[in-house]
Amino acid sequence: MEIQVIGVQGLPLIRKGDDLPALICDRVMFEDGDILTIASSVYSKAKGFTRDLATITPGAEAVRIAAKTKEDPRFVQAVLDSSSDILLEHPFILSEVPSGHIGVRAGVDHSNIEDGHIIILPPDPMGAATEVRDAIQEITKKDVRVIITDTCGRSFRRGQTGIAIGWAGMTAINDYRGDTDLFGHVLEITEEAVVDEIAAFANFVMGESHQGIPAVVFRNCRAWNGHDAVYFTQKEDIIRAALKNKKD
Ligand code: GDP
Ligand code: MN
Ligand code: MN
Repeated sequence: MEIQVIGVQGLPLIRKGDDLPALICDRVMFEDGDILTIASSVYSKAKGFTRDLATITPGAEAVRIAAKTKEDPRFVQAVLDSSSDILLEHPFILSEVPSGHIGVRAGVDHSNIEDGHIIILPPDPMGAATEVRDAIQEITKKDVRVIITDTCGRSFRRGQTGIAIGWAGMTAINDYRGDTDLFGHVLEITEEAVVDEIAAFANFVMGESHQGIPAVVFRNCRAWNGHDAVYFTQKEDIIRAALKNKKD
C-alpha cells in the first residue's frame, strides 16, 4: 500500500463567494476514494464566516475576560459568540462550539486574513464536508471523501497538530473492538480516530503561515468501519468535568 499525498498548489487568496470545490477541481485530477482535506480557514473565508472587529461591540463578559487574557475585548466577544460552553477563561479561553469540538479561543483565528478581520470556524463543519463532497461529485463524477481540518493545541503536550472538525464519506473512528491482535487477543477498547490522524498529516503539508496550501489530497488510503461518536458525552468526559470545577 503506497499512500500518495498531494498538496494542492496555486490556489488564490480565497474570498467570500469563491467556489472552493471548483477551484480545487481545476487543480487536481480526482480519483474515486481520494480523501480531500481542506483547512477550515479557507472554507470559512469562501463562505463568509469571518468578522470585522470594527463591527463588534464587546459586552461586559467579554470585557471582564479580556482583562484577564490581555486580548482585544472585541476578539473575546467573537470567541464568546462562537462558543456554546466555556471550559476555561484564563490563561486562554477554552470552549466548546455547537458542533461539539472543543478548542482554544473557539478556533477563532486572526492569521491568514486582513488586519482587523478574524476567521471563525464553520458553524456546521459536518455539513460543510458533505457539501464539498457533493460539489466535487457533481463536477468530477468521482466519489471523494472530505475532511475539514483545523490546527489545534493539545492537552499534556506542547505543539499544535491538525485535527478533523468535519468529515464526509467516512466514519471518524476505525473501531477495532472485537478484532483480534497477532496473538489472538480480542481488542476491547481500541477505537482509532483516523480522521484526526489524516488531518494531522494534512496540517503538516499545509503549514501554518504563507505556504498557501489549504488543501491536501490523500490517494490509496484504505476504507475502514466504525462510528462518528468522536466527542465524549459530558458524562464520559472526566477532563472537561475537572476543568469546569476549576474554572476561574
Ligand atoms: P487553519 O489551520 O484552518 O486555521 O488554516 P491556516 O491559517 O493554518 O492555513 C493553512 C494553510 O492554508 C497554509 O498553507 C496557509 O498559507 C493556507 N491558506 C490560508 N488561507 C489561504 C488562502 O486564502 N489561499 C491560499 N492559497 N492558501 C491559504
Ligand atoms: Mn485555525
Ligand atoms: Mn493551521
